[in-house]
Amino acid sequence: MADIPCAFRGGKLILALWMFTLPAKGPSFAYAARSEQALSVDQGPIKVKIKATNGRIVIRYGKERQVDVKTLIRADSPSKLTETVEKIERVGKDLYFRQMDAFKESETPKTGYENYSPPVVDLTLSVPHEAVLSIDTYNSDIKVEGVSGAAFLKTYNGRIAYQAQSGKPLKLFASTRNGKLQSDVLLSTEPTSPVHLETYNGDISITATAPPKHFTNGKFFNGHRFVSQDWYVVDGLIAHHAPPVAVQVEDLKGAFVAPAYGDAHTHHFEGDYFSKLMVGKYLPEGTLFAQTMTEHLSMKAAANKVVNQADSMDVAFADAGFTATNAHPTFTYESLASNLPKDLTPQQRSDRLKGRRTQDGDAYWIVDTARELEKAWPKFLAGDPDLVKVFLVDTANRDKNKDGFMGSFGLDPVILPLVVGRAHKAGLRVYAHVDTAVDYKLALESGVDGLAHMPGYGFNEGSEDTVKLTPELAKLASGHYVQLTAGLAAGYAEKNLKHTQTLQAENIREMRRAGAVPIVGSDSYGSTTAGEVQAWFQLGQTPLQVLTSLSKDTPQSIFPWRSVGEIREGYEADWVILPEDPLRNRAVLLRPTRVLKRGMPIYVSKGGSK
Ligand SMILES: [Zn+2]
Repeated sequence: MADIPCAFRGGKLILALWMFTLPAKGPSFAYAARSEQALSVDQGPIKVKIKATNGRIVIRYGKERQVDVKTLIRADSPSKLTETVEKIERVGKDLYFRQMDAFKESETPKTGYENYSPPVVDLTLSVPHEAVLSIDTYNSDIKVEGVSGAAFLKTYNGRIAYQAQSGKPLKLFASTRNGKLQSDVLLSTEPTSPVHLETYNGDISITATAPPKHFTNGKFFNGHRFVSQDWYVVDGLIAHHAPPVAVQVEDLKGAFVAPAYGDAHTHHFEGDYFSKLMVGKYLPEGTLFAQTMTEHLSMKAAANKVVNQADSMDVAFADAGFTATNAHPTFTYESLASNLPKDLTPQQRSDRLKGRRTQDGDAYWIVDTARELEKAWPKFLAGDPDLVKVFLVDTANRDKNKDGFMGSFGLDPVILPLVVGRAHKAGLRVYAHVDTAVDYKLALESGVDGLAHMPGYGFNEGSEDTVKLTPELAKLASGHYVQLTAGLAAGYAEKNLKHTQTLQAENIREMRRAGAVPIVGSDSYGSTTAGEVQAWFQLGQTPLQVLTSLSKDTPQSIFPWRSVGEIREGYEADWVILPEDPLRNRAVLLRPTRVLKRGMPIYVSKGGSK
């Protein structure tokens, strides 16, 4: 057994790399005896072992035969690592990588320590045969994609993310000490694959994409109607042609397939418990995509352990929205956070809560001045938001309302374009809460990308002129997404519901005529899209309009950077499977027998198999 140590020093980082030429018949796992059992099957001629003490390691196995190694070291010695990695290529078969002592305190210069970034090693290796991969780290995150063969992954304080290559046998041993076991559900799709997961307090997230599938005898929504088609799904994406590997045939038996649905306006997905509850409600109606139009930032991390996972819904987050002192939604959030007596009138509550800003920076940002916006903005960006929410409420009467009921006004119109400018510079879309036609006009003329409500969504009193959209006003929304939130009227309007709905229907007609894109947003705490969809039908929206919005426009509005919402080559195979044509029988629209995410079933109705 040859031993080729190759050590070098570069500032704070010391890297050492050994390469072994192992016996051709199989690897030995000197430092992990247990792995021999886990990996005792189908050992290929290539073995990679990586050991790290501090750092982050990303490994991707490409499909080409050629070995392609790319290294990214955010430290001092990229050239030397490249050189070392080239030696891996020369040695060819068996690899052992050990990375250690990234933080040797005695050698760490006093200045610049705070700027230290752990080394990131990004290897792209191709494997002509099945590989055995072994990674052992101490404080590192491990991310592996596309390995066929066997993998032994171990970390003490890191997280493990593993994506198997579709259609290939998977043999995995993963172990971590600090964190949480995330998902082992999807691994069961490969019944022959031995899988060992072990964690103390660790964090293991496993993604195994479905094996390539050929979906036959289905009727697929093409944007106009359902047509008989055959589609392949490879690596979770829709394909016209068969991949050059074995595929599973899935007979849809005449079922109807549409892209999975979206709800663009929610305030759910806060924390672990409530997120799980809502996923359990949304998936059975086919809603796979959702967006919070503000949530408590402090509860996002816990929500993200439930959503944005391979077997769950995908959610975009607005985080805290931008508003003014005592403006909407401070009353709502402060009221929720307070323990005021339940029997107080709204006015009494408002009087008691005025001036409170306990949720500032968490559920909303108070930006009364440009200076306050400047201070808040980097903190907002640090939360990694997916979009920006701003609040306009009855702007025409803002000065009058400011001293009145808490939340009866919104952001200072002078601040609005400043928020929009910063957002667009950061590549973020801006959605505005609007109540009146004046708010609507101001928002669109200030350059917002979409609206979180249509004027008149909850119209109840006063002059209907304040919420009515003329053809000229409607034109302003051309090409913009508008979350209708029409279903809220049922709660606000009570006796006037018919009148409110007549107004809403007229506003929608004008906006559609002008080329605005109505999208589904429920904005109903604890509820899904069902009430909103019902309202759309009451407003005279056709089944085709409802299905188009649910399955295409709404998901595309939530994730404009992803290929979702259509059944076409290269798009994600995120589907609802319906027992009948929902354009003929609207009763089945929200009752899918199955929901697929990237070709994998993540929801199956009771007794449903179609
Ligand atoms: Zn809302």
